[in-house]
Amino acid sequence: MSVIPPEQGLKRLWHHAGPHRGRVVLAAIYTTLGKVMDVMPEILIGAAIDVVVRGQDSFISNLFGVDDRWTQIVILVILNGFIWFFESLFGYLSAITWRNLSQTLEHEIRTELYQNVQRLDLAYFEDRSSGGLLAVMNDDINQLERFLDGGAASILNVFWNIVLVGAVFAASSWLITLLAFIPIPIIVAGSIAYQKMLLPRYRGVREAVAELSSTLSANLSGIATIKAFTAERREAERVERVSDDYRTANREAIRFSAAFVPLIRMAILAGFTCTLLVGGYMALRGDLEVGLYAVLVFMTQRLLWPMTGLGETLDQYQRAMAATGRIFRLMDERPTMAEGSEVLPLPARGEIRFDRVSFGYAEGPDILQDISIHVPAGETHAIVGATGAGKSTLLRLLLRSHDPRSGTVSIDGRDLKTLDSAGFRRAIGFVSQDVFLFHGTVRENIAFGRPEATPEEVEAAARAAEAHEFILNLPQGYETVVGERGQKLSGGQRQRLSLARSILRDPAILALDEATSAVDNETEAAIQRSLAVVTQDRTALVIAHRLSTVRDAHRIWVLEAGRVSEAGTHDELVAAGGLYAALWRVQTGERISIS
Ligand code: ATP
Ligand code: MG
Repeated sequence: MSVIPPEQGLKRLWHHAGPHRGRVVLAAIYTTLGKVMDVMPEILIGAAIDVVVRGQDSFISNLFGVDDRWTQIVILVILNGFIWFFESLFGYLSAITWRNLSQTLEHEIRTELYQNVQRLDLAYFEDRSSGGLLAVMNDDINQLERFLDGGAASILNVFWNIVLVGAVFAASSWLITLLAFIPIPIIVAGSIAYQKMLLPRYRGVREAVAELSSTLSANLSGIATIKAFTAERREAERVERVSDDYRTANREAIRFSAAFVPLIRMAILAGFTCTLLVGGYMALRGDLEVGLYAVLVFMTQRLLWPMTGLGETLDQYQRAMAATGRIFRLMDERPTMAEGSEVLPLPARGEIRFDRVSFGYAEGPDILQDISIHVPAGETHAIVGATGAGKSTLLRLLLRSHDPRSGTVSIDGRDLKTLDSAGFRRAIGFVSQDVFLFHGTVRENIAFGRPEATPEEVEAAARAAEAHEFILNLPQGYETVVGERGQKLSGGQRQRLSLARSILRDPAILALDEATSAVDNETEAAIQRSLAVVTQDRTALVIAHRLSTVRDAHRIWVLEAGRVSEAGTHDELVAAGGLYAALWRVQTGERISIS
């Protein structure tokens, strides 16, 4: 796995901020002005002491031409009020600008990331857990927020601290400047070394959180199975283990990050002691004004203490860059199947042809071998065969979820590889074996492929799919919420809904992967009735488990271990006395399913 180095992550982030750079600059200006105001009180303290000690020669007296000490103090108080007001104002403006900026950036990255992920081939998802992808699209992006909200501003703060305080120092005493600044290179070098040590640890934390989130999401979606197998205890232990791994990974990182502040404190102490000692010595000898001495002592504090925050900022930075690396790695994923550029003219005629197609998943063996199937436009063909024979795989090739290893799949005489896939998929209504319903109402699920359909159209589609009756019997009819993945419906009902959803789009081709052979007689009759209706005026390729549902098909293809072993009409196949005839005897005689 390639890892994007942190600097590059930052560069990419800056690139993404493109249209918002104006706001970044504005936020930086607010932070800077806030910082300037923030340094002022120390100078005021010095000035106040100066007024008391030097009276008519004081800094304030010279600046405003006022001799009376009390008046000078009042001037200082008024100045202080102004400074307080502006510091608050700029602090507020800086916070909202940075935070909104970070929200906007995150929103844009999240949206772009989702769009990119959605474009990837199905094969990509088959190799990965959705929980892992979720961790990147959710946790990693949130991680970015923590850095952008405060981190950028605090880096700027440290920078301006050094510049502003440095200017005050330099104007006062070169010796003290030197002494106060000695710890800075040590702190910076220490921070960088520390940052290098932390990086792999944070990467470990990110990997652990991905594991945690994929375990949680897998368990929540499989909760019914967990309960059915009374595996609660084992699964709870598993989650505990993964969570503990996460804790351990964090503990490693914490051990290092917590040691940072005490180390920095020592460097600060050294700098502070020097200022106190040397400044005090010079003030006693009269080489340094008392007020200025006070300013310098306070300023050293002001200069060095925020540097302990540098550790936390670098900490956030490291976490954010580890997250950014993962975000951009996902953003850089590209589909491996090249999109065709030709557009299938719609409405399609609906002719399907598999020409000497061989296919296997990933590096695996051939699942389909040398398959040639031709479905003329308007006909209904069936595919039957034992479980694992490759029937569903064949339909996936028709949708171009995968490309064949050799041979071609074509619609209306055009190789799918040359076609724009969004275009030709519009011509296919697909009912998969494991129907996916979205959390929403029955109506929304049926109208998924055509949200603008009228209630009458939705109802007509449901009638054709023999779903209307059972929908009316649901508590809220078409407005019944089906639950996540449609768990409030029966398997057969889900498939009816899915069929209705497909035919609402009125596709030229209907590809139907029947869920199961285990249906009662009534359902079987309903399936037959709806098949007769929905296959009219379109090409249909139906994978059937109950042979009786496809008796009337124009042609039946029998798949055996990835090859077409027989083909013909029902009567021809029964007469031929091969595998189909044997299956037919079993299903009509003993009503045992073939899969
Ligand atoms: P059923 O009647 O049970 O639905 P089927 O004929 O539809 O079976 P397929 O789903 O096409 O069978 O599977 C054919 C073979 O391909 C099986 O051996 C299966 O293990 C394998 N297979 C299916 N999907 C994948 C995948 N995504 N990755 C790797 N192998 C797969
Ligand atoms: Mg199947």
